[in-house]
Amino acid sequence: MTDCLFCKIIAGQIQGRFVHEDHELVAIRDINPQAPLHLLIIPRRHISTLNDLGPHDDALVGSMVRAASAIAKEHGYADDGYRTVLNCNSAAGQTVFHIHLHLLAGRGLSWPPG
Ligand code: AMP
Ligand code: ZN
Repeated sequence: MTDCLFCKIIAGQIQGRFVHEDHELVAIRDINPQAPLHLLIIPRRHISTLNDLGPHDDALVGSMVRAASAIAKEHGYADDGYRTVLNCNSAAGQTVFHIHLHLLAGRGLSWPPG
């Protein structure tokens, strides 16, 4: 996708440091952090929204969740707790149309979210 912000970051066309990267995912710091730790776990392959996932993406989504869990643990938040969020389309506030899992930690997170 030539006009996708996260595809550009993944391709190195926009400066950004990867907190984690492997063959299928990268993790970056959110530019507007909502918690002391706020990362985005992003698949290298462009998928616009959760509505575009198919059965062949099950392993990829599992890898995203497992990466979030591993990174939270590395940063010392496994016991206190953390939140993962996938926003889909406008009612949920999705602004970047390349799926990404938010990982938030380091403060009390109220429920329900706004
Ligand atoms: P969402 O609202 O779920 O689509 O989340 C998009 C997130 O991307 C927001 O939390 C933004 O702060 C974040 N974001 C936007 N541009 C950048 C960027 N260049 N680098 C890192 N995070 C970004
Ligand atoms: Zn993309």
